[in-house]
Amino acid sequence: MQESAPLNVGFFTKSCVVLVCLGGVHLIVALFFYLTESPTKFTNYRKIQSDSDTYASLTHRAAALVMQYDNGTEVDVMLNKLIYNGSVTIKDDEEPAVLESCPETSPLLVGPMRVEFSEPVSLDMVRKDNPQLMMGGRYKPNDCVALQKVAIIIPFRNRGEHLKYWLHYLHPLLQRQQLDYGIYIIQQDGEWTFNRAKLLNVGYVEALKVYDYDCFIFSDVDIIPMDDRNTYKCSNQPRHLSVSMDKFGFKLPYKQYFGGVSAMSKKQFEKINGFPNNYWGWGGEDDDIFNRFKRIAHTRQTMKTDGVKSLSYKVVDIEKDQLYTKITVDIGKP
Ligand code: BGC
Repeated sequence: MQESAPLNVGFFTKSCVVLVCLGGVHLIVALFFYLTESPTKFTNYRKIQSDSDTYASLTHRAAALVMQYDNGTEVDVMLNKLIYNGSVTIKDDEEPAVLESCPETSPLLVGPMRVEFSEPVSLDMVRKDNPQLMMGGRYKPNDCVALQKVAIIIPFRNRGEHLKYWLHYLHPLLQRQQLDYGIYIIQQDGEWTFNRAKLLNVGYVEALKVYDYDCFIFSDVDIIPMDDRNTYKCSNQPRHLSVSMDKFGFKLPYKQYFGGVSAMSKKQFEKINGFPNNYWGWGGEDDDIFNRFKRIAHTRQTMKTDGVKSLSYKVVDIEKDQLYTKITVDIGKP
């Protein structure tokens, strides 16, 4: 008995040491998985976005949402009939390979998305999540030729928070839509009254200096689509994309409303001489744009002299980020 007692104590001590060590290893492994899991939250979040069950009621509808509001918004999906075209590229091994046109409807679309603004978003996070972007917020699919070359123009001043969410939601969406696109943030310099339409004209002119765009999307910085079937493309008619917004109770505020997000081909834009340059301050300019397509007296006369052809401004700065091209401009004052 006396001899076996120290033996038992030794065995007990060793067992304890082994147990403590195992506990330590378990803790380290758990900590490792916890820490490496955190940066993937955004990926998980995107998976949640594609959960169509949550938004099953929105099927066959597309939507846009204004950030300040928590509810959703719907926009009618418009299908574009577009002509396919092919192109030849050189692969690494120098053998020419023909890239097919992208299909009319991208197979990457997920439909309704969950859009909300409670999770903080940083530009670095958006950059990491969109490694395929080229400098200046440019992208094109690498496995097919995009059907349209789309410039997205955003008039901007002092809306950094909105911009982060816009980039966070729109970059993945535009890539799923298989577009050849570029993002142009047109920032009004100085403190003079804001002029949304003139900034849009500037965006049109500046984007064309960079690339041969054939389609232009004019978007407010605080409007996010809630369904990626709402394609950021042009059609044979100008398109109004944000036709059903939460802030207007998911319907148009009035029949002629053309604000928020709209799409125009280069040809359509040229035909109306772009936007008016003389709408300083809030409101009216979108109604003017709408009426440029209609035979309504006043603007049909002024549009000949007031538009992109008579545009004057001074570029103050051009910043090329992975997520966007930001052009700061002096557009004068009222
Ligand atoms: C203004 C538009 C604005 C609309 C909706 C109209 O009175 O003229 O510019 O988009 O209201 O808010």
